[in-house]
Amino acid sequence: MKQRMEKMNLKEKRVLLRCDFNVPLYKGMILDDTKIMNSLETIRYLIQNQCKIIILSHLGKIKKEEDKSYYSLEPISRRLQELLGKEVYFSRTFLNSELSKRIEMMLPGDILMLENTRFLDIPNQLETKCDAQLSSFWASLADVFVMDAFASAHRNHASTVGISKYIPSCIGFSVSRELLTLDRFLKEPELPFTVIMGGAKVEDKLDLIHTLLPKCDHLLLAGGLANSFLKALNFNVGGSLATESISTIENLKQILLTYREKLMLPLDAIVGSTYDENYTRYKRINEIGDNEVIMDIGNLTLEKYKTAIQSSKTIFLNGTMGKYEENRYSNGTKELLSLLKKQSAIVVVGGGDSVSAVKNLGFSNDFTYLSVGGGATLEYLTKGHLIAIDAIREEEKIEILDV
Ligand code: ADP
Ligand code: MG
Repeated sequence: MKQRMEKMNLKEKRVLLRCDFNVPLYKGMILDDTKIMNSLETIRYLIQNQCKIIILSHLGKIKKEEDKSYYSLEPISRRLQELLGKEVYFSRTFLNSELSKRIEMMLPGDILMLENTRFLDIPNQLETKCDAQLSSFWASLADVFVMDAFASAHRNHASTVGISKYIPSCIGFSVSRELLTLDRFLKEPELPFTVIMGGAKVEDKLDLIHTLLPKCDHLLLAGGLANSFLKALNFNVGGSLATESISTIENLKQILLTYREKLMLPLDAIVGSTYDENYTRYKRINEIGDNEVIMDIGNLTLEKYKTAIQSSKTIFLNGTMGKYEENRYSNGTKELLSLLKKQSAIVVVGGGDSVSAVKNLGFSNDFTYLSVGGGATLEYLTKGHLIAIDAIREEEKIEILDV
């Protein structure tokens, strides 16, 4: 087990806490504050321990100077303040002397949030290239580093990996919960185990497919993934989203041969058209026209997938059944989620869009676990480890920590 926060002596220490405050924003408004809520347990624990809490997080993608005006963490600090009922100070400056002075003046239990770590990517990508000087500067601000941003744990950045090279480090409650839950349900899943995968690009999911296929009893496919498999079987998928790569097609053919009994592919679809945006039809999968575009799965597919789902003890869902962002193509995903909701099986949902779909379609409280990790969750399930967690030492290797 990795060094856990609650096993360290943190009383009155200066703690650098990496949170995941990469929340969805619209015109500066927070659309979903789940990630902020998820950080509260760790922050409250640090307050109880009278720590001086210095919070780091990234927000959005910062590629150019203008991006900074959209992605300040200041609104997040205000929301955190409301949720905690306690002042959260905010620092726009990363300058060594000013920041050190400000931290010196903090009282036990005070919270200081620093501006978006990725602002330091302009111009030299100090954060995302895991710059050693930046990492050691941040480390110099605190006695202990707490990594509590699971969704960023697959990134080799200064604020996720760099700091832990310089000061004693541990994982916070939110990372610990995520690791334990994914391990508990998916490492050795209770059988029969069904994986449902949809979504966009098959290339993004090939490694995960290769990891999960030997472990699962059924793999039910939909979305762009299924289109690519259908293409490998020489079905006409018209103008649908599907792989163009010959080597991927070869790979899929091999998977189809090896795992024929486990794989299930759509029997029907709701299609749009490449040239008429009002065109919507129901089609059997062997009737797709050259100008038609598969957008969602149909009822026959749902009926077929139901048999595997009903016989399962564990179900993992990643990716949506269709282009669920458009109302007319959200039915497959909605119906699938309704079906999963009725099962007594363990149901785990992982992936950024998949969890958003669950929330937006009204199923937030209906499943065993919604993994908050997005890409990190998929990488953890595929590789079994994450670089920022690897960087933290094992519990038994740290004796009495004199921090
Ligand atoms: P996650 O982020 O959960 O890993 P993905 O990003 O792989 O999931 O899948 C969700 C995306 O896949 C959505 O943007 C959705 O519009 C898209 N998608 C699903 N089915 C189709 C389809 N048939 N054609 C085009 N896009 C699709
Ligand atoms: Mg996605």
